Amino acid sequence: MIRVVDPASPAGPALDEAAALIRAGGLVAFPTETVYGLGANALDAAAVQAIYAAKGRPPTNPVIVHVHDAHEARALVRQWPDVAATCAQAWWPGPLTLVLPRESGVPDVVTAGLDAVAVRVPSHPVARALIAAAERPIAAPSANRSNQLSPTTAAHVAQGLGRRVGLILDGGPCAVGLESTVLDLTGPVPTVLRPGGVTLDALRAVLGAVRVREARVHDAEARVSPGMMARHYAPRARVVLVRGPLMPPDAARWGALVVGAEAPGAAHVERMPADPAGYGRALYAALHAVDDAGCTVVLVELPGDGEAWRAVRDRLARAATPA
Ligand code: AMP
Ligand code: MG
Repeated sequence: MIRVVDPASPAGPALDEAAALIRAGGLVAFPTETVYGLGANALDAAAVQAIYAAKGRPPTNPVIVHVHDAHEARALVRQWPDVAATCAQAWWPGPLTLVLPRESGVPDVVTAGLDAVAVRVPSHPVARALIAAAERPIAAPSANRSNQLSPTTAAHVAQGLGRRVGLILDGGPCAVGLESTVLDLTGPVPTVLRPGGVTLDALRAVLGAVRVREARVHDAEARVSPGMMARHYAPRARVVLVRGPLMPPDAARWGALVVGAEAPGAAHVERMPADPAGYGRALYAALHAVDDAGCTVVLVELPGDGEAWRAVRDRLARAATPA
């Protein structure tokens, strides 16, 4: 069931019900500023296991724990280096996830057996109110079936998970629209594991040296090397990234995501914002819309090249990776 919660005053029966459900070991989908999350009590292994079951998520993919403030984050980790305090000060609440050595009370299922746990303080008022009312840290990956498109509205969640989730809190569309930046602080140099809402330039401006794990190829042109990128964040339609003019593909019904290009003959066209933040906010909803329009192929005009576009490029490149 979808229950609306006003972000301007996130209180009331729907929120109370959601908090009670979390405390009882149940699942609740809720809005964050990045994407909608599928949440459970992070300290209850069986509850977190139910997230994996609902998503069909492989047990090797750890989940992020959402807490109300840095103080609560510290309770989940064995070390809180100066760089963690600096990050918390600069970006929390917000779309930055920190990976730190876990405290023993964090269940194995949360970290997929890893010694480190990923923690984040979200800024969305409904997420914050839910964490506060539940009085529990909330483990939450994106509220979609594994490998499918992330949801940026409550309707996307309902469409993707159906009856696998009993309660969906609707707090409106997500402001960032892409997943958080994941920053590993367990090594000598902070390392970005996943680009996201906080850019590399912003991290470097505050932290100095920051590495990027290049296990996956971020440049869309490098998709000639399949296998280097895990397919993820993908719509049902086949995604084809294009530089220059769009040529109609050999498909009965095709859609297009364009910034400036024309898309003659497309059954569905999404005109995308020309700035990276706006594009990121609109991306998943645009891909959902192409699927809803029944397109089997979607041509995506590649947007900008700069560092600010890294997270968008990352998601597009992985969406375009063949299954
Ligand atoms: P999602 O919850 O779908 O946004 O995905 C969470 C992502 O966060 C995972 O796919 C990992 O990339 C990252 N992550 C979560 N926990 C950890 C961890 N303990 N160590 C490293 N990366 C993590
Ligand atoms: Mg996800």
